[in-house]
Amino acid sequence: MPAEAPHDHSPSAAIAAAEQLCATRGQNLTELRRSVLRIICAAERPIGAYAILDQLRSEGRSGAPPTVYRTLDFLLEQGLVHRLASLNAFVACCDPAERHGGQFLICEACGRVGELNSARVEATIVEEAAAVRFAVSAQTVEVLGRCAACLRLPAGPSA
Ligand SMILES: [Zn+2]
Ligand SMILES: [Zn+2]
Repeated sequence: MPAEAPHDHSPSAAIAAAEQLCATRGQNLTELRRSVLRIICAAERPIGAYAILDQLRSEGRSGAPPTVYRTLDFLLEQGLVHRLASLNAFVACCDPAERHGGQFLICEACGRVGELNSARVEATIVEEAAAVRFAVSAQTVEVLGRCAACLRLPAGPSA
């Protein structure tokens, strides 16, 4: 793991932060939105829409796929979660107060994902794109490799 961010990453802390954020934006974090966010925050790995739906149902909630997709759209719009296209799955954002694209370090061995959220990388992409007269509207960078925990495994390949 890289240097620990100074904030609490527990699901309850994330929900509390999300509630506050939605309140300041005049948005309503409904019970379903809260439940979906909690499921994504609690998941150790990126989680897909159908796995979220399964979990909602196991909690005794009825949720039709369109409802869950609309809920995910809301969470994406608010920057509370990110969608990883290569995995077709969602991860909680580590810093939702600040709008950003995010760079994701996806471990090919254990499937865990870390978020870099580097303003420098984001700015570089905007600059390089501008140089070829391309205006960036959104960017999500997905980087494949091995996480620190997997690199430490004695059975792992020596890089
Ligand atoms: Zn983020
Ligand atoms: Zn790993």
